[in-house]
Amino acid sequence: MENMLFPHLAAVEIEQIDRQDGQIRVEARTRGDPVCCPSCGTATGKVHGYHRRRLADRPVDGLPVVIELRLRRLGCLNLECARQTFHEQVPGLAGRYGRRTPGATALVIACALALAGRAEPPSWLRSGCCSAASAYSAP
Ligand SMILES: [Zn+2]
Repeated sequence: MENMLFPHLAAVEIEQIDRQDGQIRVEARTRGDPVCCPSCGTATGKVHGYHRRRLADRPVDGLPVVIELRLRRLGCLNLECARQTFHEQVPGLAGRYGRRTPGATALVIACALALAGRAEPPSWLRSGCCSAASAYSAP
């Protein structure tokens, strides 16, 4: 079921899915595989710490989806590397500093283009899907 609703989360491990406060909250974490240092390319799995990212995702059944993603801060094993630690990224899920998944971004863009210059949204945009998308317009 998770793979059908969230195929774009195949690169991470889904720990829990909750429906609360009118939204669906997905807790996920990376799988713990070694990651290459972005500066020198040395593979490392040395965990320096953890942090959480909160990403808005495409709505499911008209409800906004928020992904709480736990990521690692890793230490580079190359003693000559200028970068001692770095945050791991999940390619395809969100860009650096991004707050939306690519699917949520595409939905916001589609709604913005459909609403551009109109005083009132067209009827097809007044469905639950687009009302959920409006929740993503915040920073
Ligand atoms: Zn390095």
